[in-house]
Amino acid sequence: MSALPTSSHTSVSSSTGPARASYKAAEAALAQARKDAKAARAAWLADESAAGDDEAHPLYVADETALAAVDAAEVALAAARDVLADSDEPRAFTFCTDDGGEMTVEATSMGDAIDLAADWACEGDYDAIESTIWVRVRIAGEDGTESAFTVTINPDEPECDHENGHDWQNPIALVGGLRENPGVYGHGGGVIINTACLRCGAGRTEDTWAQDRATGRQGLESVAYEPAGTYDVSALSSEVER
Ligand SMILES: [Zn+2]
Repeated sequence: MSALPTSSHTSVSSSTGPARASYKAAEAALAQARKDAKAARAAWLADESAAGDDEAHPLYVADETALAAVDAAEVALAAARDVLADSDEPRAFTFCTDDGGEMTVEATSMGDAIDLAADWACEGDYDAIESTIWVRVRIAGEDGTESAFTVTINPDEPECDHENGHDWQNPIALVGGLRENPGVYGHGGGVIINTACLRCGAGRTEDTWAQDRATGRQGLESVAYEPAGTYDVSALSSEVER
């Protein structure tokens, strides 16, 4: 089940410019050519009276002609697709993610499609995430263009019960570690930084060498939170500012 919304951002309009119309026509022409070729081949194979090597046989010639028409239709379709890709006409772009999220929108360029895809990916239901996740989005245009990028989604910071909100700090009595750098621990090529809210006792863990387990990519930044009361702030000495 994807975390991503599947409703459409922009209604897929029926607006079709000349380049898109040509592309659609070329698509239909190719489908027809393939159908014709199949029929021509079947007719040639069904004629058992003809010698297999009779290249002058009308059904053989028709088969060859139909195959050539398919080739020509494929070339025409590729050309029409390139024209559409270079145009600024509305056309379909489909977004998808690894967890099965998918949506199709209309946009007039890949750049616009990327903006829409980024919005779409960020609007997912991520309430359940406990630490940073990376959502990979792939885009495939009707015009044959493709793109891919990754959106970083951080978990929401928990609410603080103090009216002034969290006060994230790193007193050694709470977060441990070295006196000169409390709460900081080496992790791969980076560090893990633990901080505590001195008001509600919530915890925050930042990792500057996080890994996206889906892709194996390292050296990313992630954040995770622990709920209020995780740290016993009442144990702090009175010299710590509350
Ligand atoms: Zn707090």
